[in-house]
Amino acid sequence: MARDAIIQNDDFGGGEVPPSPGMFNPDDAQYDETLRPTRLKDVVGQRRVVERLQIVLDATKKRAEPLGHLLLDGPPGIGKTTLATVIPKELGTEIQITSGPALTAPRDLLPYLTNAGRGSVLFIDEIHRLPAAVEEFIYPAMEDFRVDIALGEGLNARTISMDLQRFTVIGATTRSGMLTGPLRDRFVTREHLEFYDDDELETIVTRNANKLRNEITPEAAKEIARRSRGTPRKANNLLRWARDYADSKSDGRITTELTNDALTMLEVDHLGLERQDRRYLETLMGVFTGGPAGINAIAHTMHVAPDTLEDEVEPFLLRCGLIQRTPRGRMVTAAAYDHLKRTPPASGNTPPGESF
Ligand code: ADP
Repeated sequence: MARDAIIQNDDFGGGEVPPSPGMFNPDDAQYDETLRPTRLKDVVGQRRVVERLQIVLDATKKRAEPLGHLLLDGPPGIGKTTLATVIPKELGTEIQITSGPALTAPRDLLPYLTNAGRGSVLFIDEIHRLPAAVEEFIYPAMEDFRVDIALGEGLNARTISMDLQRFTVIGATTRSGMLTGPLRDRFVTREHLEFYDDDELETIVTRNANKLRNEITPEAAKEIARRSRGTPRKANNLLRWARDYADSKSDGRITTELTNDALTMLEVDHLGLERQDRRYLETLMGVFTGGPAGINAIAHTMHVAPDTLEDEVEPFLLRCGLIQRTPRGRMVTAAAYDHLKRTPPASGNTPPGESF
């Protein structure tokens, strides 16, 4: 998602906010792979989801049947790809990986379908971005394990039907609301992944510091967890930055003091807000006098793609109670003025939000 978001930023003539370790970074994918849990027992948090998946996996193994199609939704960096890659390992089967935007036409999807062995997993990231023609093409593949291929044109046109092995689609999406009803209905299991609490993120940070062979104090791990916006990928990125900082400034031991200095330098505040989040709030306060304002207007003013704001900025601001979504548009709350130490406008229609 982040990669596409950045491409769209360029389309908007953006790039005003350069990537920082808290945001998109070209090394993220590589880094994700190094730290990604490989078995279900190593997945931290999401307890209920993991318990339910464990049941489904046990039953699938006992019956020696392919797993039913599974849809995972939740904000970016929350563990959707992690679960999707852990599942085939637990089942001892293979996985093929693609994404909605990469599948521009049915012919792009066909090789994945014909290569899929019995019980194997086809992971489709950002499945809400599948073009309509590809979506239509995947319906019979998911339901009846067959595809209809159109051959020739005009009078010679004919359709052949081809049988497929019984395979499993695991779809991931940051926007389950954008999925069409028929596609959503083809998933037997649907799971929503939530933001993580600080203790869970602390466990992830401590474990990953160990993997990276860097010593970290419990307080420093707590501090990184607190500023990670409930998101493991952010926690990993902040840990990476704190580690670079500690290696550069001292002996590599990640202490609270070094962590605070490192995160201040990165402009990540005590809530975990980054420059882009604060720009969003400032735009809403400054240009739109606190709102309500439409997402496109805010995005246009900030020179950022609306998708980036909806996927990467707003979920956490909503969760913190710093903004509200109303039928008339987005509004900042009194808590946001408080957080940025600004005075709310005199009109007094600012919702309270949470205080910190
Ligand atoms: P998504 O697919 O939702 O964007 P990922 O699954 O790629 O997110 O997660 C990003 C990184 O965060 C992973 O590489 C992994 O290191 C870490 N991570 C995510 N979820 C967990 C988890 N439940 N336990 C431990 N680490 C996690």
